[in-house]
Amino acid sequence: MQDDFAEVTHDLILGIDLGTTNSAVGAVESGFPILLADEDGKRITPSAVWFGNGGSMGTAVEVGRKALRRRSADPGRVVTSVKRLMGRRFGEEREFCVPMERAADGSGGLRVLGLSPEEVSAEILKELKRIAEMRLEREATKAVITVPAYFNDAQRAATKRAGELAGLEVVRILSEPTAAALAYGLDKLGEKSRVAVYDLGGGTFDLSVLEMQDGVFQVLATRGDTRLGGDDLDAALARSICAREGIDFDTLEPAARVRLAEEAERMKCRLSETEQEAFRAPFYDGSRSLETIVSRADFEARIKPFIERSITCCRQALADAGVKPEDLQAVILVGGSTRIPAVRRAVAEFFGREPDLSQHPDEAVALGATIQAGVLGGTLRQMVLLDVTPLSLGIETFGGLMNILIPRNTTIPCKAGEMFTNAAAGQSSMRLRVLQGEREMARDNWELGNFEVPFEPAPKGQARVGVQFRIDENGILEVLARDVTTGKDTVVEIRSAAVDVDDEAVGKMVGESVDFAFEDMAERIFTEAKLKAEELLPAVEMALASSGDLVGEAERTEIESAATAVRQALAEGLPNPLKAAVQRLDAATEALAAALVERAMEEAMLKRLG
Ligand code: AMP
Repeated sequence: MQDDFAEVTHDLILGIDLGTTNSAVGAVESGFPILLADEDGKRITPSAVWFGNGGSMGTAVEVGRKALRRRSADPGRVVTSVKRLMGRRFGEEREFCVPMERAADGSGGLRVLGLSPEEVSAEILKELKRIAEMRLEREATKAVITVPAYFNDAQRAATKRAGELAGLEVVRILSEPTAAALAYGLDKLGEKSRVAVYDLGGGTFDLSVLEMQDGVFQVLATRGDTRLGGDDLDAALARSICAREGIDFDTLEPAARVRLAEEAERMKCRLSETEQEAFRAPFYDGSRSLETIVSRADFEARIKPFIERSITCCRQALADAGVKPEDLQAVILVGGSTRIPAVRRAVAEFFGREPDLSQHPDEAVALGATIQAGVLGGTLRQMVLLDVTPLSLGIETFGGLMNILIPRNTTIPCKAGEMFTNAAAGQSSMRLRVLQGEREMARDNWELGNFEVPFEPAPKGQARVGVQFRIDENGILEVLARDVTTGKDTVVEIRSAAVDVDDEAVGKMVGESVDFAFEDMAERIFTEAKLKAEELLPAVEMALASSGDLVGEAERTEIESAATAVRQALAEGLPNPLKAAVQRLDAATEALAAALVERAMEEAMLKRLG
């Protein structure tokens, strides 16, 4: 069948890593996924928001570096790590950079500076949207946003709401390890390949084991520590430097602690390159100053317990996934803190292989989100596609049976077609019911749509209608029905339902197909045998009446008794006896059918000669 569907429209979709410490945004430009830089040329925006004047709506807001700069002067109005609060209820998180209050609306939600976590996150997303629009010089209204693999439904829903508040339609929530694996190009690995994603960022750590299944990464296991990240290393370093100088870090004013931690962070990042570094904090509390030298070895000794905690998580995640380090095809590093040489060494040692360092660890998630956005928007056509059909797609055929055209778990884009015919003579149209599901009978599946396909009237079984299903990279199903005689097409588009089915519904459908497998199969066998019987019985009767002389007595008796057995089995309604009876009738009439064909040929020949 010719491929004459309309071209897919190309959408601009942003890829966004909404991180605990840092965020980034990207888009596909001229076929390449790139991260977009702000006016200062920075591709990473700190996930920090400053709310002037108490944070109620309509007040001054600054995001990113500008917000961080306000931290030492105005620590009570700068919100950082708001991701920790997403989808959380009041009381679930105990510690935060600014006081948390219970929402006044009785919902049990929490507020910081009078705002919900979604509203704060929305400010970060608005800033990313602004950067993207400035760079791309066009409006951006859609995004793929990443979340940790361990985020539950409430946390994912809150992330989606944050996007909407920022004026972005969230076309997909993607898990961070999957995004990272995409950025590292690991989707090119074969089926059943397994990879580990070690993600040590500013505030959190997690290790995920992924497996490629039917072209999509599945998270086999994920373990993490939401209180383990670069910030902890900064605080540990600042604390130990203070202790060395006889200062009690924990009793300092918040602003002084912020100053010292910021200097510790600067020094930490430098120590990833150098062997020793100066720590300088002049007038950190307004009057005192601190200056000292720290070696990389000192730093490594200080952070060893943190690295060990991360390795414990790795061990647990591998055990959960039932995978040994040697079963992995790759280990990738994500998160700015994996730039620390001691972290890289520990990972290499535990997994028994060098981690892949081909991508910027702090940009990999955003890059992966951008790749996914490009695939969904149709701007990255060459990529291996990640989506699969969660359930089978097909149409209803004779007898109310489900006829599958695209089986469940087929990688999209894809297409499949089949030829159908008319059930009755003189029929001039047929109703095509597009179905989704795993059950044998049409009525037990979901109907995605139905439409009338006109065709030239023809004797029973002679009309030819080609039906083709095609799912594009956006998950849009197009159904094309063509009357082969006239070449006339009927095309119907079914949006998104073919691919976007929630996991629970998929689970229910698949579960039912297993629960009812026996009954379903029996009904299919019966229906198919009945259709065959209904075709065979009148044909046999006619043949015996007109050409009964062609077979011997014994054969005739067998045909008649086989036909009686079919009628009886039909009346009894039992699938396997009916199937057997139909097969017997089919076999019994074989010689008669052959003789009929022979006679017809002879007659045709005589006619031609005469
Ligand atoms: P992320 O959340 O992935 O953006 O990671 C941010 C964390 O990475 C912060 O704690 C940074 O201090 C840390 N980080 C960034 N660059 C480096 C570096 N070169 N060496 C050590 N830590 C770094």
